[in-house]
Amino acid sequence: MRPRTIRDDIARAKARYLLREYNISRPPVYPEDLAERIGIQVRYHCVDDVGFSFSIKKNGEYFIFADISSNQGRDRWSVAHELGHIVLGHYELYHVDTIMCDRLTDRERYILDREADIFTEELLMPAEWIMKYTLKETELRELFKVSKEAMSIRLNKLNYQLPASQARS
Ligand SMILES: [Zn+2]
Repeated sequence: MRPRTIRDDIARAKARYLLREYNISRPPVYPEDLAERIGIQVRYHCVDDVGFSFSIKKNGEYFIFADISSNQGRDRWSVAHELGHIVLGHYELYHVDTIMCDRLTDRERYILDREADIFTEELLMPAEWIMKYTLKETELRELFKVSKEAMSIRLNKLNYQLPASQARS
């Protein structure tokens, strides 16, 4: 089987399911903790030339190798993104790239990365939670511990109304 379409609904449903299943009911969500609870090992790598996080499946076990940058929000996003690849079954359903060889086409890789990002968005910033707050964007960002960019995109998509006091000033 090869990836053909972006499974938006499945990606979101999976994120919501995990939050429920692991009794996570308020921000911030810690993707490393969740991964460990699911049985995925998280390691921090400091390979000079590798400025990103990645995951592997080895002998039936999953590992996430997390990159640490100066941007905590970004790091949390990339760990959640790798978690997304794993829990959305990308390793099981498809012949994904390995360290040694690329097996996916660019288009297929794009599809899987989008799914992992949709999962991440829903996991770190569930729509339901965001809509409960009446806070400024900076306050929401603090609360959810995500990057400026991630929160801004999320709020735009959700059509989030800023508090009246701020909107008027
Ligand atoms: Zn990816």
